[in-house]
Amino acid sequence: MWIVPEARIAELVTPEAAFDAVEATFAAMAREDAYNFPVVREAIGHEDALYGFKGGFDRAGGALGLKAGGYWPHNLEKRDLINHQSTVFLFDPDTGRPEAMVGGNLLTALRTAAASSVSIKHLAREDAKVIGMVGAGHQAKFQLRTALKHRNFEKVIGWNMHPEMLPNLEEVASEAGLPFEAVDLSGLAEADVIITITSSFAPTLMADHVSPGTHLACMGTDTKGKQEVEAALLARASVFTDEVAQSISIGEAQHAVGSGLIAESDVHQIGAVINGTHPGRESANQITLFDGTGVGLQDLSVAQAAVRLARDRGIAIEVDV
Ligand code: NAD
Repeated sequence: MWIVPEARIAELVTPEAAFDAVEATFAAMAREDAYNFPVVREAIGHEDALYGFKGGFDRAGGALGLKAGGYWPHNLEKRDLINHQSTVFLFDPDTGRPEAMVGGNLLTALRTAAASSVSIKHLAREDAKVIGMVGAGHQAKFQLRTALKHRNFEKVIGWNMHPEMLPNLEEVASEAGLPFEAVDLSGLAEADVIITITSSFAPTLMADHVSPGTHLACMGTDTKGKQEVEAALLARASVFTDEVAQSISIGEAQHAVGSGLIAESDVHQIGAVINGTHPGRESANQITLFDGTGVGLQDLSVAQAAVRLARDRGIAIEVDV
């Protein structure tokens, strides 16, 4: 079995490689070549942590396994560790033998940023100029950095419940040579693309904060009870997701479907748009919303890429188990 330590991931997996792996994974899911197992996610009653497993099997890509981990909200303040902690385990689909153990923290950020960017590539208006961020934590920096590559954005605007974190967004905007402006929630009406990436349990972005023609990637809601945007916004939008079963149970659509504002059949797989079996955006005024819940197959595909590169470069550590 191979071990690829967390500290080596940055030199192995680029945002571009993660984007390609995730786009291919979403396409395979919509072709039913790959499927995710039901998610286990538990509030363990210790350190306010949410811990769980996301797994799946990609028959075409030969990936079988799971990511174990979750969210420890006090890590940063108490231990100077990032709040997300996870590890990916890959197994040989022919034998069930363990194949690899891969540090999953940076991979999670890369695959999550790749997911929103896949949605921007396939659903945002080509002429999008202003990107708005709701959230300014650890993931937000990765989200923004990757998203900026997918349209010719001219300005970044952002709102965060904790305004002292907004310099995180300003830093990424300035890396790309773009101006950054802190706005209130109504100021997000200027945005052509909005990414939400917070750990909120109540909606902050309301339907009337969003202009016609906007594409939203809602990335923070990955657990029952979490919510970033008003359910009425999903009723105004064409809704896409990575995995419909997750979207309606642990994603943003759990609220809109639960309250009867939209039906499960109104939620479409982004993979169908990638494969050309769903038209995606159909007009410049349409609001499109990607509910990115995060699927195990995303983790497996980026971990596979990491193992391949680490073995090629002699970085992977081999152990007998
Ligand atoms: P973080 O702790 O670094 O940042 C949290 C962010 O949420 C900050 O912007 C903070 O100001 C904001 N926030 C906290 N409480 C809030 C509240 N009550 N209302 C509004 N905003 C609030 O966390 P992170 O690592 O950036 O992760 C952000 C979220 O993304 C988490 O909920 C995490 O579970 C989720 N996530 C989703 C995926 C996915 O695949 N969809 C992957 C990774 C992380």
